[in-house]
Amino acid sequence: MNMLPSLLLLIGLTIVQAVALAQPAVTFHADFEGGSLGEVTRVGESHWRCAVKGESDWDNRNRQASWYYFRMQGAKDQTITLELTKLLGEYNFKPGAHAIRAGTRPVISYDRTDWRHLTDDEVSWNEKATELILNFTPERDTIWVAHLPPYLPSDLENLLAAYQDHPLMTKKSIGKTPQGRKMWQLTVTNPEAQTEDKKEVWLMARQHSWEAGTSWAMEGIIRYLLDSAQAKGLLDKITFQIIPMGDPDGVARGGVRFNEFGHDVNRNWDLVIAEEMPEIQAHKAAVTQQAGQIDLFVTLHNTELADYLQGPDLPVGQKLWQAMVDNTSFESNEGIRPMPHTTTAGKKGRMTVNQALWAEYQIPAYLMELKIQHVKKLPGRRLPPDWRELGRGLVKSIAEVLLEKP
Ligand SMILES: [Zn+2]
Repeated sequence: MNMLPSLLLLIGLTIVQAVALAQPAVTFHADFEGGSLGEVTRVGESHWRCAVKGESDWDNRNRQASWYYFRMQGAKDQTITLELTKLLGEYNFKPGAHAIRAGTRPVISYDRTDWRHLTDDEVSWNEKATELILNFTPERDTIWVAHLPPYLPSDLENLLAAYQDHPLMTKKSIGKTPQGRKMWQLTVTNPEAQTEDKKEVWLMARQHSWEAGTSWAMEGIIRYLLDSAQAKGLLDKITFQIIPMGDPDGVARGGVRFNEFGHDVNRNWDLVIAEEMPEIQAHKAAVTQQAGQIDLFVTLHNTELADYLQGPDLPVGQKLWQAMVDNTSFESNEGIRPMPHTTTAGKKGRMTVNQALWAEYQIPAYLMELKIQHVKKLPGRRLPPDWRELGRGLVKSIAEVLLEKP
């Protein structure tokens, strides 16, 4: 028997194994709550192209690619290059839009609790290819990468469980999502203080699933209202009605801005198709039940680049804008941004929540956009403590506006 071929095979295998040992296989995972990653292609030693999955609507339009959240294993001490690709999409039916851009700084974490933004030295932008290139060296074997620090349905459930028996909060299910998740309406007030002039404020977050910053802000709002002695007095005078997570299915699936049936939960408020938009149906029923008693409605959203307040040009909105500028990291110098009658001219079924609530019920309803990029009033980009602080600042601003002495 000729031993040579098997000997050569053995040597060959040993070389392959030695290479494998020197450079452990790096793997990518997104099969967890909120996880999302498109196709991954290895193009070099420690270099991958990672497509951002993105999401289109029911009509295969309005693709937006602004959510990725994945785990890498086995990359410790290797200098990694990741090219984020497939970023182009549409916004409001206009092709060529892309949320991820030169100033985008993804976040990384080793424990999913402490997140930091990649630095300017760790990120570059390929304008021609519309791709964001990340260069970083993980210090540990497991690392998570995301567009912004994730806030998931399980985080909300944990928060609500922690305040389960709090005397100032009640929780009501106002319906179920297409995937069977409960949609919550929280009522935060002192039920023993019943005065004629008690104000009613509605707050909403996360109609768009990628906008995790608004959930961190909402957590700040809820904790502040329930934990602080200062807020306790407020709850004698104001009832806060809160819809904390507008699209829990989308958040759980790692979606971007559409529900299970491809509908934007912040559009179609003037033309609700109950079977396909159970979220909007439930939210609208809950809010409009109180129409006539609502002093202020604010829905929280995230953008890449700008803080602004959009809504009807009323004193309550003007004062809220001013108080936010004075009290918080909210950065805007334009006053109230006027609200177009509809987002897409001439087409019914495209009204946002604030447009429809104002047009149909004359509720002073505002959309507050909060950016995820650099904030000049802060050392950098907002992280969870900054979002929570912004939430506390919003409550203080609302109180200042609604309870001011005439
Ligand atoms: Zn949004």
